[in-house]
Amino acid sequence: MIPHIPGDEFVIERKVRTHLLPVFPAERSPESRRSDFEEVLIGYDEATAPLEAGRCLHCPDPAPCIQACPLHNDIPTALWLIEQGDFLRAAQVFRQTSFLSEICGRVCPPQTCRGSCTLSAYGKPINITKLEAFVADFQRRHGALKIHRAPPTGRRVAVVGSGPAGLTVAEFLVRQGHSVTVFEAMPRPGGLLRYGIPAFKLPKFVVDQKIVDLERLGVRFVTGVRIGQDLTLDDLFAQGYQAVFLGIGTWRPVEPDWEGANLDGVYMALDFLMRANLPPRDLPPEKRERPQVGRRVAVIGGGDTAMDCARTAIRLGAEEVVIYYRRSEAEMPGNREERKKAREEGVRFEFLVAPARFIGEDGRLTAIEFVRMALGEPDESGRRRPVPIPGSNFIVPVDAAVLALGFRADPTIARTTTGLEVSRAGLIRVDEEGRTSRPGVFAAGDGVTGPDLVVTASAAAMRAARAMHAYLMEQPPVEVPEIPPMVEPALA
Ligand SMILES: Cc1cc2nc3c(=O)[nH]c(=O)nc-3n(C[C@H](O)[C@H](O)[C@H](O)COP(=O)(O)OP(=O)(O)OC[C@H]3O[C@@H](n4cnc5c(N)ncnc54)[C@H](O)[C@@H]3O)c2cc1C
Repeated sequence: MIPHIPGDEFVIERKVRTHLLPVFPAERSPESRRSDFEEVLIGYDEATAPLEAGRCLHCPDPAPCIQACPLHNDIPTALWLIEQGDFLRAAQVFRQTSFLSEICGRVCPPQTCRGSCTLSAYGKPINITKLEAFVADFQRRHGALKIHRAPPTGRRVAVVGSGPAGLTVAEFLVRQGHSVTVFEAMPRPGGLLRYGIPAFKLPKFVVDQKIVDLERLGVRFVTGVRIGQDLTLDDLFAQGYQAVFLGIGTWRPVEPDWEGANLDGVYMALDFLMRANLPPRDLPPEKRERPQVGRRVAVIGGGDTAMDCARTAIRLGAEEVVIYYRRSEAEMPGNREERKKAREEGVRFEFLVAPARFIGEDGRLTAIEFVRMALGEPDESGRRRPVPIPGSNFIVPVDAAVLALGFRADPTIARTTTGLEVSRAGLIRVDEEGRTSRPGVFAAGDGVTGPDLVVTASAAAMRAARAMHAYLMEQPPVEVPEIPPMVEPALA
């Protein structure tokens, strides 16, 4: 264990005064990235990572970045090691608290660790996440990632859902020696890491690496099975699983009641993203057709999902992609950096407008009628409520529209499980440790909190997994299937 190196005032003052400029991670140019789904980030390398990490002030405890990271990664120690060029040990420091280093390194938004960096006050926060991605990839490239597993305990656990929450619980529990089976409704594991976040932000091979890690540790993935429909929770307990984790996310789109929203050419965001971003073999048969975007695409919504859809439409060859948002840019909920990238790639924004109806010919979308909005009094979210301006309607011809209006919980499991308490919105109710109202059933992630982040889902799942381990150890051992031995020395 490497000690955290607290900075003294002299070091802090010197670093701030002589302060080196940020070294940004390399990225593909907007021109080169517009036409394919390859990763935008090129990232740090052995020469640039120490320069960026070397800007760390080593704030006295408690370091704000550690506190802001939902996983409480020991960021100052990792950055100190990167500064010394010790990338393998830096990766290990991140992996002490995170099972999803290469993933969080790529997709964590700036408001987490980076937003809290003391150097933010000078407009120059350290790019912690991309440094994490660099060392995690470096460790894999050098075949130095080893994951150890305790001897089998004879306890069996079912994990429902294979997004970041499910994968975190599966890894935690398999490392403890429990027998873990993950049930996933989609054809491939990964949750939104595979089916939501586009490949240009998170390449699918990174998700595959994680699945392979877990399979090598003995986790069994059963895909194409929807719990609550193909099998109930009671069936799982009857099959000998002693505890169940629900990491089911929130995949139901918020559907509007606008006239014409069911025309061909109007897509729901997640449907659009998965059809565009994944090979047909990874998709259910009814979702294998690629979206037909034509020349002009309207994306309705203002969050990160809307940005992902707009950037995907650009990559599908659309010439004019416009995001229509009913409030102003100041109220936009998403990540500013994502907006900047979208603009660089040619996406345009229209603020203070909302669709009134979708217009079609022969069942296919041809235009959208919009109405202009003004901002009224704040609503329950604290943001000013958009109010339609009478008589301000206008029509825009479009070839396709993508609706990114948000997500809600799927009621399938709650409907078929007795004793499982859910909120009015259908979110699973849990205590601090992820215990649901049903003994032996635990939950975490978006299915509990509503749509959030990869890192928050993983952090909550880590807490639930600890509680599950304690619970499982109180259960008597059962006969469990033989688990293949861990592949040593490396999971390259
Ligand atoms: C387009 C998009 C982009 C995003 N980009 C980012 C980003 O850049 N950074 C970030 O931090 N977060 C991002 N997020 C949010 C992030 O992906 C989620 O917060 C995170 O994936 C939630 O993890 P989870 O494990 O709770 O659920 P999910 O990842 O949603 O996984 C749930 C899994 O459960 C499965 N499932 C559901 N019901 C059943 C059932 N009954 N039986 C079996 N399986 C079931 C689903 O098929 C799914 O695979 C994005 C989200 C979207 C939609």
